[in-house]
Amino acid sequence: GDSGPCGPCSEIYIDFGEEKSCGKPDCKPGCECERFLEFWNLVFPQYDMQPDGKLLPLKRRGVDTGMGLERIARILQNTETNYETDLFYPIIKKIEELSGQKYSPYSENSGFFRIIADHIRAIVFLLDENIVPSNEGRGYVVRRIIRRASLAGKNLGFREPFLYKISESVIKTMKDVYPSVLENKNYIEKILYDEEEKFTYIIDSANKIFEETLKDISKKMIPGDVAFKLYDTYGIPPDVIEDLAMGENIKVDWNGFRKIMEERKAISREKSAFSGNIEKIFESEGIKETEFVGYDNLECESEIAGLYKEKNKNLIRIVTKQTPFYPEKGGQIGDRGIIENEEIKVRVYDTQIDEKGLIHHIGKLEKGNLENIRENMRVKLSVEPEFRKKVSINHTATHLLHYALREILGKEVRQYGSYVGDDKLRFDFICFSSLDDEKIKKIERLVQNKIFENSNVKVEEMSLEEAIKKGAIALFVGKYGENVRVVHTGDYHSEVCGGTHVKSTGEICIFKITNYSSIGRNLRRIEAFTYQNAYLYMEELEEKMKKVCGELGIPQDRLVKSVINLKKEIEEKEKSLRKYKDLVIKDLSERLSSEALKFNINGKETHFVGRKIKVENVEDMGFISDKIVDTLKRVVVLLGMEKDKRIYFIMKVSEDLKEIFNAGKIIKEISQIVDGKGGGNPVFAQGSGKEPSKFNDMIKNIKERLENAEKSRF
Ligand SMILES: [Zn+2]
Ligand SMILES: [Zn+2]
Repeated sequence: GDSGPCGPCSEIYIDFGEEKSCGKPDCKPGCECERFLEFWNLVFPQYDMQPDGKLLPLKRRGVDTGMGLERIARILQNTETNYETDLFYPIIKKIEELSGQKYSPYSENSGFFRIIADHIRAIVFLLDENIVPSNEGRGYVVRRIIRRASLAGKNLGFREPFLYKISESVIKTMKDVYPSVLENKNYIEKILYDEEEKFTYIIDSANKIFEETLKDISKKMIPGDVAFKLYDTYGIPPDVIEDLAMGENIKVDWNGFRKIMEERKAISREKSAFSGNIEKIFESEGIKETEFVGYDNLECESEIAGLYKEKNKNLIRIVTKQTPFYPEKGGQIGDRGIIENEEIKVRVYDTQIDEKGLIHHIGKLEKGNLENIRENMRVKLSVEPEFRKKVSINHTATHLLHYALREILGKEVRQYGSYVGDDKLRFDFICFSSLDDEKIKKIERLVQNKIFENSNVKVEEMSLEEAIKKGAIALFVGKYGENVRVVHTGDYHSEVCGGTHVKSTGEICIFKITNYSSIGRNLRRIEAFTYQNAYLYMEELEEKMKKVCGELGIPQDRLVKSVINLKKEIEEKEKSLRKYKDLVIKDLSERLSSEALKFNINGKETHFVGRKIKVENVEDMGFISDKIVDTLKRVVVLLGMEKDKRIYFIMKVSEDLKEIFNAGKIIKEISQIVDGKGGGNPVFAQGSGKEPSKFNDMIKNIKERLENAEKSRF
């Protein structure tokens, strides 16, 4: 580096002998060829390099050393490459077995074997660390690694997901040193299977889209905008585009691609512009992070260390050296409360933590003005107790729900995300089975029973390693070696968690699931109320039930039975109503048929029924015209009905007349008589118009057409 600790270093090589040499006269350790392999490296930091290049002696000197595990294995086991060592060979063997292809260090397909072997190891450990494939952050890293490995598999002839089968050999090799990979075996295999299956589907359809795209462009280079469309519209990842292009021997204009990507990012940055809208008024020099003292206290006194203004809103942000206000983190929303002294009073609506670790109290001035707020001014910070209580209740309830889900649905359930507010809680989780009312009921009951048990909630600090060893669920949490908070609920559930909790589960009082749903492949969501809101929710349900009973005149204890009976009654009434209606329709159509006008067209008797009738809807008009056509044959029917000051009409022509009378065409022509529109096919047409009184002219028009047809011979 440019400055900082440094010193001499030594590198240890092994010489594999002259036969491995490239033969060049300057072949020596460090040469590109196969002869020398560096496997051990020692650095002796003893100077502190100043920015001006001066070397000062380092106060604490030491030795840094790093030896490549794979390389030392290769040397000791005397293999050609790392991949024949016992670290990789079981994986290679498994790939051979599943693909039916042979591996040798120098065979043409050895590269694909190595990619899979190398990547599957990383995949198993990333999944074991609870990193779920997704489209952002580290989730995207694991997704890309899985895809690379899967693509390599395609080159070995795999058509179906196969990585999950290979993960077993990694688990077998590693389980003694990393027992968790064995515990998570089912989970790892399922996630891996799903992800690869999804990808296989993407790559199959990507192939098709890609081939289509190739038809439209020159065969040399895929333009940046086309590549971006493949990525943005069709969701084909850039590395897949690259692989597909490579397969066709085409280059991709990645510079053009990046340019469009940057433009897009700039637009979305402008849209969000969270940090850009905060104006700094003052900030104490060198302030690092706010000390959070709010686990056990809801009040404290401290000095103001920063003041900011939100440009577009009438909100200010205050940072203090210490605070009892919990900032939004791990799904739990930020605290509310008051910051005040003799001069000022600020009502805090929200609390957030920034990337430096400063806790921002966001709120409005209720007493004093901005000029009154000075650096190092002493203030009293008080969290609203009722708010904190509700949030803490929901947080502890979330842990109980997590526990119940693992009990009822299986230990494979993984938390995916959560919302812990003062109003409700939401819990998203990965789960491979579907939810139903019965399972939900079991889960809810288990949580409620744990509330009745009134278990103690205890918090303990320990290292992450210790927490995991003790069986605590550790999700989304920091680095090994760090101290973490472990929240124990009774003796049945422990979770690494930075949130606030109640002292015992009895404080939750009531737990009521209000909604459950599927929010994605293997992703489920449960929403619930606790405490007062759960009571209000049940009260409201009861109110609704009472109202329903009142409206229906049914006693509450017979509600379900009565509603079922009511439903039956309605069905029966509908049936008899339909019967009655059928009779009316039959009667009306018979009457209309008997009153039909008769014409002699082409020597055959031809009928016309043209009438305005009184029916409920156009559908009934259709039934009547159908009946008339059935009875009379060779017939033209024009029926109209009035509704809301409009005339609705339909025209039906029997099959044997459609050559002479095209219903669709005629209706299109004559709809204007009633100032309307209409159309249809040769045997059926319909329309509507604004002038019901002119409908008789439409009838007259058809009559004239029939009279003319009578005179002429076809
Ligand atoms: Zn060489
Ligand atoms: Zn928690």
